[in-house]
Amino acid sequence: MKLIFHPLFLKHELSGHPEKPERLSLLKLDNCVEAQNGEKYLSLAHEAGYIEKIKSLSRGTPAGSGPPHKEPGKAVYLDADTYINGDTYEAACYAAGAAVQAADIGGFALTRPPGHHAPYGGFCIFNNMAIAVKASGKRTFIIDWDAHHGNGTEALLKNDKNVMYFSTHQVPLYPGTGLRSEGNCLNVPLDAGTGDEDYLRVVEEKLRPALEAFQPEIVAVSAGFDSYCKDAGWLTDLQLTQKSYKAVCKAIARYKVFFVLEGGYNPESVKDGVETVINQFV
Ligand SMILES: [Zn+2]
Repeated sequence: MKLIFHPLFLKHELSGHPEKPERLSLLKLDNCVEAQNGEKYLSLAHEAGYIEKIKSLSRGTPAGSGPPHKEPGKAVYLDADTYINGDTYEAACYAAGAAVQAADIGGFALTRPPGHHAPYGGFCIFNNMAIAVKASGKRTFIIDWDAHHGNGTEALLKNDKNVMYFSTHQVPLYPGTGLRSEGNCLNVPLDAGTGDEDYLRVVEEKLRPALEAFQPEIVAVSAGFDSYCKDAGWLTDLQLTQKSYKAVCKAIARYKVFFVLEGGYNPESVKDGVETVINQFV
């Protein structure tokens, strides 16, 4: 499985913010497929006014002080948690493009900024997953194993008969959604401290039957590694190890698959997590 990356992903930054380029710093990035610009796909998931807002906030930031990414700390906020610097719009366009490519080639898109809360903030700019799913047009089963509920993905794909959204997430935790299942959205809330034993049970008792019932053409994973044990205590408190991610990979092995990076704030979590996935699909 190929990683998909673009150097622009490292230009979206704000000094001191947990959603930082260093998240990718322990990955080997020399053999990646280069991401392409996904600007033309944004409107598959987002309204024109939202796209324009991100573009103008990014292009105008900060007024008259040169390339903002060269001056960490200079950015504006979309909401209380979500920053936008002068490179954010372009980085986010390429992140969306990377997700579309991942669906196309069965790869792993190392998307920064991440996407599953978009358009509702939460460190996210464009919803890379929803864009990739809409662009592919395939019957898609999405698994979101990030520690947070993907409220943006759920809202954008709700009632889409071509899509099933299956999310496991810690509760209570930001954004506070995903407490129950509805229509094509299967939500499995997890208590803080949940580890492999409980997670493996969810894979066997809930994920596998749902996959079997839906019969997807393709399975997409919103791969956030803030559910990993090495991220516990950063922003979240789950205790999954590589065992849990491997169990999901095994459950989806017979399908065409692709992965899109979401959270994971300890660089070691992202490294261990991405490597686990890659090693399951060699
Ligand atoms: Zn998260």
